[in-house]
Amino acid sequence: MDAFEVVPLPAFTDNYIWTIRDARRAAVVDPGDAAPVLDFLRREQLELVAILNTHHHADHVGGNSELLRHEKVPVFGPHDDRIPEVTQRLADGERMTLPHFGIEFEVIEIPGHTRTHIAFRGGGMLFCGDTLFAVGCGRLFEGTPQQMHDSLAKLMRAPDATRVYCGHEYTLSNIRFAKAADPANKALRELESSAQQLRDQGLPTLPSTIAQEKATNPFVRCREPAVIAAASNYAGKPLPDPVSVLAAIREWKNNFR
Ligand SMILES: [Zn+2]
Repeated sequence: MDAFEVVPLPAFTDNYIWTIRDARRAAVVDPGDAAPVLDFLRREQLELVAILNTHHHADHVGGNSELLRHEKVPVFGPHDDRIPEVTQRLADGERMTLPHFGIEFEVIEIPGHTRTHIAFRGGGMLFCGDTLFAVGCGRLFEGTPQQMHDSLAKLMRAPDATRVYCGHEYTLSNIRFAKAADPANKALRELESSAQQLRDQGLPTLPSTIAQEKATNPFVRCREPAVIAAASNYAGKPLPDPVSVLAAIREWKNNFR
């Protein structure tokens, strides 16, 4: 085994609990449910060393308490009392070192989906919860289009090869919408066939990469003429700036069938 690997533990309908593991230990990102984590730890005979939380939604933190009953480990998360188990609250630009693994993560505040959402970036990886998805972005439950635009822009500053570990398997349905919002995009068609093949074999389409998102994700392509044109057509008026384009395609996708 390499120094470590990152394993997706499926949970609920389409969540992934990303698990960083080596031969003896594991750390989990967004354990919405404890059961798949405990099963995995038992089966692989691993000791849990840390929990990372990106945001307060139950399908990302719901397993914290039960995991902590089994093992008292540090819990890294945002400044938000809605996640009571967090032991180390982290703000934008702060760094943390993952216990045992020694991977240094930088924390990036990315409001939009929720107002206190954070991402962890380090070791060539980005754990971005429900803010950035492959070919999509999270719904704006507590934030504005401007915040989501700025948060996605912050994430896109990571190196192109950065592996993007998103909270849900939404890629195929996101591609169906993206083909309407960015109709001439060839990279999108290519991704559709490779993603379909993976899903047909029951495999995750993730991680994505920053380069792949720049090429295929309409929510980070709000300056592309084709996306501006499609969004303006949906809105029924010319859209003057990328934030208006993002707002229009976010609303369009909410109603897309
Ligand atoms: Zn969420």
